[in-house]
Amino acid sequence: MTNQKGITLIGGAQVLINSDAPFIKCRGCGAMIKFAKTLTESYLPIEPVDIDGITFWQAHFATCPQAGKFRKKIKRSEKTN
Ligand SMILES: [Zn+2]
Repeated sequence: MTNQKGITLIGGAQVLINSDAPFIKCRGCGAMIKFAKTLTESYLPIEPVDIDGITFWQAHFATCPQAGKFRKKIKRSEKTN
């Protein structure tokens, strides 16, 4: 039985989160985050943000000082003529 619900992140991205998902500690910065699933079936660390007493969620990449360590190094392929 899954208790997935769709939430919209700050910025507008839609993700699915399991309501039973525990908070885990970001290995980069120690923040408490949860993993949500994106519409493309990949996992995205998200964190709660309190705005005027309402909890919103945003991608942890937005604030994590160690975000670069999560992502595989993606080099922009420069166009060479
Ligand atoms: Zn972090």
